[in-house]
Amino acid sequence: MPEIKVPKVLPFGGHDWDIELDGVIGDKYNKAGILDTENLILKLSSKSLPSVLSATLLHELVHLIDWTFLGERLSESEVSSFSNGLYLLLTQLGVTFDFSELKEERDGSN
Ligand SMILES: [Zn+2]
Repeated sequence: MPEIKVPKVLPFGGHDWDIELDGVIGDKYNKAGILDTENLILKLSSKSLPSVLSATLLHELVHLIDWTFLGERLSESEVSSFSNGLYLLLTQLGVTFDFSELKEERDGSN
């Protein structure tokens, strides 16, 4: 089964994006993931189940593509539709994600 190791830093669209597991965004914002375009960080809730983590990563990556190339033109439901479609496709192709490289941020600052 092809497994993609999720990197700590993802160069994309001329920026280096940090990808982090975050212990507090789930409680603080009631969200499984956030794309912080000010600080160039893609945060995923460390409390998510593995399957949710993968779906959330894809969701935030679609936001990243939208932010980079479309100037945030997509609606939240369009982002969700694209990312759900991507998740289904990759699941059908047997692609899984490995999050073991990511460090966990627990302080919640920024
Ligand atoms: Zn979203």
